[in-house]
Amino acid sequence: MEIVLAKHAGFCMGVRRAVETTMELVEKGEGPIATFGPLIHNPQVLQQLERQGVRVLQDIPDKASGIVVIRAHGVPPEQKARLEASGATVEDATCPRVLKVQAIIARYRKEGRATVIVGDRDHAEVVGLMGYAGESGQVVSTLAEAEALTLAGPYIIVSQTTQDEMMFEQITARILDRFPHGKVFNTICDSTHNRQEEVREMCGEVEALIVVGGKTSANTKRLAEIAEGLGVPVFLVETATELDTAVLRRFAKVGITAGASTPTWIIEQVMDLLGSLAP
Ligand code: SF4
Repeated sequence: MEIVLAKHAGFCMGVRRAVETTMELVEKGEGPIATFGPLIHNPQVLQQLERQGVRVLQDIPDKASGIVVIRAHGVPPEQKARLEASGATVEDATCPRVLKVQAIIARYRKEGRATVIVGDRDHAEVVGLMGYAGESGQVVSTLAEAEALTLAGPYIIVSQTTQDEMMFEQITARILDRFPHGKVFNTICDSTHNRQEEVREMCGEVEALIVVGGKTSANTKRLAEIAEGLGVPVFLVETATELDTAVLRRFAKVGITAGASTPTWIIEQVMDLLGSLAP
């Protein structure tokens, strides 16, 4: 079996930075350490952090001590202020690219423009961005929602950093058709763009694609959806143990990609397992 590994598989810059920041705090022995929400969408990495004593805060306590890490997705400004007021030392690991989107929204909000965010309403990054957009912010996830959107004045459109490029273009075109006075910022991260483009290219040359990543990771699921949309058999797995080797043996050429929260060691285990399959 021929194996093709995507160049852009695995941790993106923002996730790597957040994980390294937390691990450095663990190594320094500064504690107690907690992350506000699960640090990344990968159960294996979360289990590892838990074993090292890193707790996950789901809510902001009135009083806290120790260090609280804000994850790469960022938080609404009001939540960051509450975390700081709780007495915890806040280590802000918001990805610089997400900070940039937050800054764009804040800047144009001051100019009186409403914000349309193209993304998943419930995703932590979008919840954080909505905190910057305030009451004039709206989230659009589908073309049907773009159709139903109402806007009364000037506005901007931004995207969740892990949004599907084609979906963003279609939704943006529809909104601009209906409300021509908008300013568009394609804030899809390069890392997402490159990963998705590579999947599209790989699907033209492989017989099947393995997508390695957390089953709750939006960007991982999106990679699988892109390949499925192109008619390629997709196997979305969190670890090598989930691979059905009997089925995989049927393919002569298999591609491997991984979401932005997938650590290298899990990708390597998948590579090793595929490599061990007899032709
Ligand atoms: S996908 Fe891009 S924006 Fe999101 S955390 Fe990773 S590097 Fe940052």
